[in-house]
Amino acid sequence: MYHIYIYNTLQGTSVKLNKQVIAWFIFLHLGALLAFLPSTFSWSAVGLFVFMYWLTASVGVCFGFHRYLTHRGMIMPKWLDYFIIFCGTLACQNGPLKWVAQHRMHHDNSDTLNDPHNIQAGFLWAHMGWMFYNRHQFDNSTRLRKFTRDINKDKFYQFLDKYFIHIQIALGIVFYLIGGISWVVWGIFVRLVLVYHATWCVNSVCHKWGYTNYRTSDLSKNNYIIAILTFGEGWHSNHHKIPRSIKHGIKKHEIDLTYYLIYGLSKLGLLSNLKVYS
Ligand SMILES: [Zn+2]
Ligand SMILES: [Zn+2]
Repeated sequence: MYHIYIYNTLQGTSVKLNKQVIAWFIFLHLGALLAFLPSTFSWSAVGLFVFMYWLTASVGVCFGFHRYLTHRGMIMPKWLDYFIIFCGTLACQNGPLKWVAQHRMHHDNSDTLNDPHNIQAGFLWAHMGWMFYNRHQFDNSTRLRKFTRDINKDKFYQFLDKYFIHIQIALGIVFYLIGGISWVVWGIFVRLVLVYHATWCVNSVCHKWGYTNYRTSDLSKNNYIIAILTFGEGWHSNHHKIPRSIKHGIKKHEIDLTYYLIYGLSKLGLLSNLKVYS
């Protein structure tokens, strides 16, 4: 059944296999395997991995790219905006403009042929297969810009969109100079692969397995394991119900670490106009 959905998904659009993206993912996964060599292990590298996992996944992607920039759930000073969006760019999932555009497409047409990672085309498609193709409908820059009219003009975001791979390579060089090869293996390869799969699980697992608190018009689910791995993004059905709310965990047991960070920063006076709906 899935191949019919994929066939339909790829129909009617200009589609090209994106060999660069496929090669990049293979390269990173092979690099991450180096972590199994005892010679690449060091406690400082593991510490760096844990810190960078949190900084790029929770601060950068969940807080910065998602709850702040995509859904405009709060207001913050420009210096903090640029800092957290830079952290999101270090997750190497495109720059902020393309990431936000594709995520807004997902919310507008969840689980349909107009959803970039339509779960109806299968688990693997929603997890990573959708990125293996360059599809006019989802990758054309003119079309993408229509979804990010509010932020298109920002020069810093434009810079991050253009150079996110270069920035990652520069970070790798800095890690190498400070901590040697073990810092590159754990701080770049292992971290990127795990942050990738955690983020991708929101698109795949959280549209397939879990529970719902509310009726929604899509297949989104709350999933405890993914919520832990993604610092709260796994309460995905709650999020689809009220996309603008910065608080994804609603029930008492729904731990939402990114929200706790946002709450703390707001108490320090760094954030305002918080959109919280329970
Ligand atoms: Zn979703
Ligand atoms: Zn969202």
